[in-house]
Amino acid sequence: MPNLFNYEQVYREFSWSSLESQLQGTIPKPALNMADLAVDRHVQGKLAHKVALRFITQNWTVKDFTYLQLSQDSNRFANILNGLGIAKDDRVFGLTGRIPALYIAVLGSLKSSCVFCPLFWAFGPEPIRQRLERGDAKVLVTTETIYRQKVLPLLDYLPKLEHILLTDSPEHLQQGFIWSLEKLMSQASVEFNIIHTQPNDMALLHFTSGTTGLPKGAIHVHQAIYQHYMSAKYALDLHQDDIFWCSADPGWVTGTSYGILAPLTHGVTSIIDEAEFDAERWYRILESQKVTVWYTAPTAIRRLMRMSIEPREKYDLSHLRLILSVGEPLNPEAIFWGQEKLGLAIYDNWWQTETGSIMIANYPSLDIRPGSMGKPLPGIKAAIVKKISGNEVEVINQPDVEGELALKPGWPSMFRGYLHEPERYSKCFVGDWYISGDLAKCDKDGYYWFVGREDDIIKTSGHMVGPFEVESSLMEHPAVAEAAVIGIPNPVVGEIVKAFVCLKSGYSPSEKLKLEIIGFARGKLGAAIAPKELQFQENLPKTRSGKIMRRLLRAREMGLPEGDLSSLESD
Ligand code: ATP
Ligand code: MG
Repeated sequence: MPNLFNYEQVYREFSWSSLESQLQGTIPKPALNMADLAVDRHVQGKLAHKVALRFITQNWTVKDFTYLQLSQDSNRFANILNGLGIAKDDRVFGLTGRIPALYIAVLGSLKSSCVFCPLFWAFGPEPIRQRLERGDAKVLVTTETIYRQKVLPLLDYLPKLEHILLTDSPEHLQQGFIWSLEKLMSQASVEFNIIHTQPNDMALLHFTSGTTGLPKGAIHVHQAIYQHYMSAKYALDLHQDDIFWCSADPGWVTGTSYGILAPLTHGVTSIIDEAEFDAERWYRILESQKVTVWYTAPTAIRRLMRMSIEPREKYDLSHLRLILSVGEPLNPEAIFWGQEKLGLAIYDNWWQTETGSIMIANYPSLDIRPGSMGKPLPGIKAAIVKKISGNEVEVINQPDVEGELALKPGWPSMFRGYLHEPERYSKCFVGDWYISGDLAKCDKDGYYWFVGREDDIIKTSGHMVGPFEVESSLMEHPAVAEAAVIGIPNPVVGEIVKAFVCLKSGYSPSEKLKLEIIGFARGKLGAAIAPKELQFQENLPKTRSGKIMRRLLRAREMGLPEGDLSSLESD
């Protein structure tokens, strides 16, 4: 039975204080520590020898860590930090692939009251420098190869960096500065008294994806763990016997909140694939690991949709019971594909680096409305609002009217600042609402529908067009694998809707196909909203977390500066 069996009732009766009383760590309240609630509290009981994390290496070797091992290894890491004189609020950065040392470093840093900041391992030197510098990094956990290739040339720019811990170097490279983590771990004690951090002590620093501009450093506190637990209970529907796979990298907030912390709070086994995306490999993991709940992203689903694999003919996916997606709007086409090819619908949910955990979701106990993000989680009050002035908003109570998606502050995983940017932080709050920067609408039954990011909205002939609606229609055409839609300035209509389209294998660009797709979209959307221009592309520019960067398409189209490209993956 789903944990959230009766949405209306749980939403109505929910209180944070009763949720908090469900979770008791080993340190006395009101002190609380994320790592304690995620790991150590289980070690006292029957979960001590259960597999917490299962790593699958590139060549399919499996490395298991029980809750007890995770607890002891993170104690060792905390002791190492202590020994190096690294103390409360000091920043420990991670820059590795999805290897055990990273997960141990996150938990060890939290235990020792340091702030952990995960970076995506594939960043080039410039994005690394920018984030280490802005984040005041004192310690960096990385591999010897990354260190030599990307970090060594930056050292002159990073005077605050005191220690580098190399995960794969058997010997210290430079005593007092560049250490072998393995060696330090072997000498460190497995006993550590978790620091009694307070609910509002800083715990994590997450840089946003950089989809709309320079990434912001969002600050999160220890009590966010309550919400990781709650959202994993209700939105991911985790039960203790689940095998859970979150395919996001901890370099992004999803990969930390749900790839590390949330599943641990539930005592489940998490699968971690050390390799990069590969469709056959992913299906094989789902099959061989008997994954029951899988949390992934639209970009991955669209990549699977592009392949001509019939997953259920080739793989036994019968253990899978729930698939979820986050990060970008999930086109209805992807949900239908899931139903047809995987035998399961895909449950979309919405949140941001700033919100720290899932805010709006589809739940197993509610009908999915394809294209909708679902309903707010218990404890979360959402609304569609209109800004009236710099300090006032009006809540729009009419159904289906577009406006700003806003949340009532006060949830535990809410960000507590943008690092070094207090003004930017305060601008996010208008009246008594947090303004997300996304536009959405709410239907009469309380389902929220994403319209687009504020920056991406197209104004054409008096219409406000959200790219998501247009892109979803384009994707219904059998030749279209992926689409991005932008507005280009036009003196007559304000902006012209232009689409960039990637084709499925087996289709090639032609004038005839272009006109056919434009005609198809016109039939679905009407002439006012359908794209007037369409350009075929091999790929779309994306952030390293897989989000389409419409701002870059716009800048290129208009010959404007491309802005911050530190998150750009490929195009
Ligand atoms: P930046 O803030 O640096 O421009 P970003 O907003 O992409 O980058 P994230 O915090 O990783 O950084 O992403 C949150 C945003 O992703 C949301 O504000 C929203 O625009 C988009 N998003 C996430 N989930 C969904 C979803 N289910 N449907 C639609 N959009 C989503
Ligand atoms: Mg954002």
